[in-house]
Amino acid sequence: MRPSDPDFDQVRSIWNGAHDRRPAAVVRCAGVSDVMNTIGLARSEGLALAVRAGGHSIPGFSTCDDGIVLDLSLMRGIRVDPSARRVSIQTGCVWRDVDIETQRFNLAVTGGLVSSTGVAGFTLGGGVGWLTRQCGLTVDNLVGAEVITADGQWVSTRDDPDLLWGLKGGGGNFGVVTSLDLVLHDVGPTVFAGLVFYRADAADGILRAYQELCRSAPDGLTTLLKLTTAPDAPFVPEAVRGTPVVAIGGCWVGDPAAAEVVTRPFRSLSTTIADTYEARDYPEWQRALDAQFPRGLHCYFRSAFLAALDDRAVAVLVDAHAELPNRLTEIIVHQLGGAAGRVPPAATAFAIRDQDYIVNVIARTTGSAGCDGVKQWSRDLMRTLAPAAATYVNFTGEGSAEHVRAAYPAATHQRLLELKRRYDPDNLFRLNQNIQPVRTS
Ligand SMILES: Cc1cc2nc3c(=O)[nH]c(=O)nc-3n(C[C@H](O)[C@H](O)[C@H](O)COP(=O)(O)OP(=O)(O)OC[C@H]3O[C@@H](n4cnc5c(N)ncnc54)[C@H](O)[C@@H]3O)c2cc1C
Repeated sequence: MRPSDPDFDQVRSIWNGAHDRRPAAVVRCAGVSDVMNTIGLARSEGLALAVRAGGHSIPGFSTCDDGIVLDLSLMRGIRVDPSARRVSIQTGCVWRDVDIETQRFNLAVTGGLVSSTGVAGFTLGGGVGWLTRQCGLTVDNLVGAEVITADGQWVSTRDDPDLLWGLKGGGGNFGVVTSLDLVLHDVGPTVFAGLVFYRADAADGILRAYQELCRSAPDGLTTLLKLTTAPDAPFVPEAVRGTPVVAIGGCWVGDPAAAEVVTRPFRSLSTTIADTYEARDYPEWQRALDAQFPRGLHCYFRSAFLAALDDRAVAVLVDAHAELPNRLTEIIVHQLGGAAGRVPPAATAFAIRDQDYIVNVIARTTGSAGCDGVKQWSRDLMRTLAPAAATYVNFTGEGSAEHVRAAYPAATHQRLLELKRRYDPDNLFRLNQNIQPVRTS
């Protein structure tokens, strides 16, 4: 697709409306051969190359000005092998596609909280979702991948376990991944899930009690805590809509008979404004937050891993909640641990396994007005909350060398650097959380 094509404006856009870029071409690949040709074209023309799967990159890496966008969104094949409990996914798929196919067999793997998120970008960064504590991160279930490298070669991770390690958190640094093989788990068809809403003035006590409950929660329950604004939803009393609230979301995938006992403590932390927990189809729950994350808003993320919600962290978060710059901006505390916490740090490029939480600030505006202000507010908040904390590469709107460096422990970064030098010494794949190959010769 070229700028003169009638649908070009639609095809060049990505989820985050903050990145209004004008590529020279968007190449909509139908298969591996097209991917190889597109890489060759970018190289021979000396053009920047942006790789796009679901288009949810927060820093806007899946688009560019004047370069080529390699768009995988037409490559949507999925093959489930229920007896081997594996799924093979072409990398244009979004999580909705995968949930539909795998749930036909009551199987699933950790996917995104919003069903339009691309499987590829999400998985290559780590993958945190409602199954994190039961099934691990998505990368913990990654057992194989096919990759087209910077020199147009087809590589399977069967032949290079080190490459497989690097894809488990090292992003799109090593080539264009054309398929991903993931392990599946028994999930659903029914899970017990929902959100409970509390008044904002109880936030301090709720955060402290939440941490206590998280410490003893079973693996089958994954939760998150939102410091947010009550949505204009029918289940929220009219007088509360648009006011600050604390919400705790959770998904229990264990024995249905235990659902009430396991989730009730999280749902009884204060006077309840609304409680939507109920038995639901898993794919329905996977789509439950979609409406709150429409395409086209201007969006910026910042994040920090935290070992604990200590007194200081609670105070900073409560103050920030009281000062949210607008109704679209919220702070989410993701509970980690469980299966994801038991993976040895060196096993995957996603190496931070000893922290119990990721705090993610989602800052949004309807257009460019006010966008710089909410970005700065998010930066200031993170600086106050945890200046030295590592960042989760999927939850950041930044992409500078300094930020990438801070996202990985030193040994992990070094190993990623060696892999990058081997697979992409000229840094063709640089529109990403870039591991910059310092040339030694
Ligand atoms: C609404 C929303 C909800 C989100 N929810 C979650 C969540 O629940 N958990 C979580 O962990 N993250 C979440 N994220 C973050 C998300 O995982 C990242 O933004 C991720 O990069 C999106 O992947 P994508 O394929 O949609 O993005 P794209 O913009 O298509 O890709 C992002 C980058 O990934 C790389 N990439 C993508 N595909 C390939 C490929 N096939 N080969 C090589 N490199 C590739 C490229 O560098 C590309 O620039 C969310 C983001 C949004 C916007």
